[in-house]
Amino acid sequence: MRVPLIAGNWKMNTTVVEAIELVNEMRLRLEEVAGVDKVICPPFISLAAVRELIKGSSIKLGAQNLYFEEQGAYTGEISPLMLAELCDFVIIGHSERRQYFGENGGVVSRKVEAALGVKLKPILCIGERLEENEAGKTEEVVAEQLRSSLTGINEPDGLIVAYEPIWAIGTGRAATGEQANETIGFIRQSIARLYSESMAQGTRILYGGSVNAANAAEFISQPEIDGALVGGASLKTNEFLSIVKQAAEIRH
Ligand code: PEP
Repeated sequence: MRVPLIAGNWKMNTTVVEAIELVNEMRLRLEEVAGVDKVICPPFISLAAVRELIKGSSIKLGAQNLYFEEQGAYTGEISPLMLAELCDFVIIGHSERRQYFGENGGVVSRKVEAALGVKLKPILCIGERLEENEAGKTEEVVAEQLRSSLTGINEPDGLIVAYEPIWAIGTGRAATGEQANETIGFIRQSIARLYSESMAQGTRILYGGSVNAANAAEFISQPEIDGALVGGASLKTNEFLSIVKQAAEIRH
């Protein structure tokens, strides 16, 4: 039985003061919801402050990225060791990082490996572009992204995969539940081919792309979908809380 997981990717939003306000607003209400893993991923600069606010609660903290080296002359970067003190999860290979910062499979796999090395659970993002989707290449693209993002990694313990069709991220144009379920089922088979059936059955695979309180149930109720990676709606307390509650209700 895979415990559902809802992760909020705050992206480059909120100052430290605003992050503290937002966590204070949602903390107690989120804390009350059982049966679902709740992860919030604020910007790096707010991680330490947010960690203090959620200490001892069931809310978990995630980062949005990391650099794969442990330490050294890498100005401006944040290492796995630094994050391991603060977080349990880390988003890796988000399409915005692939698109704007040139991250490819080689970089992403090194980041996944680095995260696993310090027991951070990677939330590995994969997903196809609109033209790839329209050309019927979704499965080919996600299989290749999965393969290249996990190259050289023998046992990705704690790996979480987020299927995020790029055309659905931040556009308000979500996939349908059936479409997402089908592709996520395919991703699960790909994990079985790369590793084993038991690894595939134990891996949580999320859907991401314009999830909100109104459409969350359509995704979470699908048998292959183990939760959601939520962008915009994770910055709104009522929306995020509603998505988390729906995940808890549907999966129980
Ligand atoms: C995301 O940030 O991964 C995401 C899916 O964003 P949104 O929910 O805003 O589409």
